Amino acid sequence: MTDTVNRDALAAARDAARARYQEFATAGLKLDITRGKPCSAQLDLSEQLLAMPGAGDHSTDTEGDLRNYGGAPKGLAALREMFAPLLDVPADQLVVRDNASLALMHFCLATSFFHTLPGGQARWMGEDVTFLAPSPGYDRHFSVCDDLGVNLKVVDMTPDGPDMDQVEALVASDASVKGIWCVPKYSNPTGVTYSDEVVRRLAAMPTAAADFRIYWDNAYAIHHLCGQPDELAPILAACQEAGNPDRVFVFGSTSKVTFAGAGVSFFGASPANVAWFLAHDGMRSIGPDKINQLRHLRFFESTDGVVAHMDKHREILAPKFEAVVKTLSDDLSALGIATWSEPNGGYFVSLDVVPGTAKRVVQLAKEAGVALTPAGATFPGGVDPQDRNIRIAPSFPTTDELERALDVLTTCVILAAGEKLLDS
Ligand code: PLP
Repeated sequence: MTDTVNRDALAAARDAARARYQEFATAGLKLDITRGKPCSAQLDLSEQLLAMPGAGDHSTDTEGDLRNYGGAPKGLAALREMFAPLLDVPADQLVVRDNASLALMHFCLATSFFHTLPGGQARWMGEDVTFLAPSPGYDRHFSVCDDLGVNLKVVDMTPDGPDMDQVEALVASDASVKGIWCVPKYSNPTGVTYSDEVVRRLAAMPTAAADFRIYWDNAYAIHHLCGQPDELAPILAACQEAGNPDRVFVFGSTSKVTFAGAGVSFFGASPANVAWFLAHDGMRSIGPDKINQLRHLRFFESTDGVVAHMDKHREILAPKFEAVVKTLSDDLSALGIATWSEPNGGYFVSLDVVPGTAKRVVQLAKEAGVALTPAGATFPGGVDPQDRNIRIAPSFPTTDELERALDVLTTCVILAAGEKLLDS
């Protein structure tokens, strides 16, 4: 990036940015673009859920009375049928659970330390378990590992997904590498959708650990921002074809479809993995919240209903993402000091600033009243080795707030670049 810096233009922009920054710093701003939460207009799209299923509506033909214990170990059959094509998991291999897919990921990881996985010879042991962390990535994946004492090894993200040469070398040579985190569609934060070739290589690569697992967190499977969604190859089928049917755990949820915090989550895998999951999940709970599942079933009515609902989210979100990309482009393109993603879906724009300045940008923005995700949060341990990645979450603020926050952000990017490249 520094090769492309236009120094004269940067010097002029830095002088103008200094004046603008003074104005922002005295304006008493209080703006927040940290976390990817749905905005209230998005939550309003699902308001009818609050009145569902309604008194008297508490049974299905398949499961009977849903108010009681039992009757649906994998969750409601019709809801599994509804989401199966959206997650590329056969309905009988898809399990529906309560509100948080992150809880399922934590459960699967923790349970692997107590119970041998299909294909494994023993349960995972002590300090010797490592997961690969394509980075920048999702901070909460890294926190799950920190919480459970699982080591993280960074692999680079490319525009096609994780750097597969790095991944293949690590998993082939080291049996303590037990898994990899993947957000395969509209990745958090880079917006990347894994290419067919990456999916194929993940499914087929030789692994030293017989019980290696891909944690396929397809959180943004249906969260498109444009009319021509990215296509993602089906991982479960790819693993089956490659002779590694047990290699993948698929996760998803309706957290950013209906209500974040009150949706339903999904676990999809091979029949052996599903049996393993149900056997141990059944020890911690007699069963999931089937009434919430029924509510979701009634609300969407069909797979097409889910897709139509996501179009309404897109109408709200796409202009916000366009506003972010436009401001970044208008303010920074000519200077050669930053690059950013223009995602076709998901919840984030990933901004790379001049190496060594991301922390400074976040600090300057904070002092001017704009909260950004801490620099480094998208890397294990909160340390971005190049100190250059900043995650922007456009969903929650209004477009007006977002535009003001982005004005501050680009001003800080210019100031920090000036300090690094012109003043030092
Ligand atoms: N996975 C990814 C990649 C996310 O970005 C998020 C939320 O931001 C989650 C999972 C959380 O999902 P849930 O609410 O289902 O736990």
